[in-house]
Amino acid sequence: ESKAKLQDAETVNTTFDDVAGLEGAKTELQEVVSFLKDPEQFDSLGGELPRGLLMVGPPGTGKTLLARAVAGEAGVPFFTITGSDFMEMFVGVGAKRVRDMFNKAKEKEPAIIFIDEIDSIGRKRGAGLGGGHDEREQTLNQLLSELDGFEKNEGVVVMAATNRPDILDKALLRPGRFDRQITVHLPTQEHREQILEIHSQNKKISDDVDMEEIARSTPGFSGADLQNLLNEAALIAARYKRKAIEQQDIDQARDKVMMGLKREGIRLT
Ligand code: ATP
Repeated sequence: ESKAKLQDAETVNTTFDDVAGLEGAKTELQEVVSFLKDPEQFDSLGGELPRGLLMVGPPGTGKTLLARAVAGEAGVPFFTITGSDFMEMFVGVGAKRVRDMFNKAKEKEPAIIFIDEIDSIGRKRGAGLGGGHDEREQTLNQLLSELDGFEKNEGVVVMAATNRPDILDKALLRPGRFDRQITVHLPTQEHREQILEIHSQNKKISDDVDMEEIARSTPGFSGADLQNLLNEAALIAARYKRKAIEQQDIDQARDKVMMGLKREGIRLT
């Protein structure tokens, strides 16, 4: 019930500086920032911005972070919904929720709507697990009609994220809908080091910790995994009542996170 409630817009402080790497994505999204900062100016120059952007990439690689950074850079309100929330709703509620959200965003335009896990509402219609998918279809249909209903250069940009673009209903990807894709990759060693630096800022880290070595020894880790590693290390350090996180805490945390990833059978070879 609580999940079905429409959240108010958030004011976001995230900027592109909070995002390590992903330079290509940031460059593309800079255009969206310019548009949101001044939609009329953009319009007067004859620019036409894609209404919907689909961010595609593995879990935990910064898709949500990037969307928030666009809102933060442009200084516009950020509305967010998660696709899987709709799965628990009664028929009709999801569609209404989508409609309300778009109306609210239009009232506050310029604004961003972010739809996480769009694959859970946007998977191919008629390809469900049997009956009872009215709810999802209605929600998807509502979303499609909202995307089609925008006025030219109305100041609302819809960003959506998925790690399963292959299962999306093709209707979502047609021109005027999510017709631009932004690919987000797992971080390189250099970017893993930057992510570690970013997420160390609010932690006490001992001088003996070698971030470069940690970055080198964590191939396949996503930004979320690295953040998790630092949080685990902080817990371990606390358990030993240390004044700062030490290299040995990080080593232990890395083994733990790595074991979790192996158990899930993902990414790490
Ligand atoms: P999901 O598909 O699971 O929703 P996502 O791609 O949206 O994941 P985020 O939620 O953006 O991932 O990132 C998860 C966490 O990892 C965030 O707290 C974020 O700060 C951190 N993170 C991921 N990528 C980066 C990055 N490139 N730079 C800095 N932090 C990152």
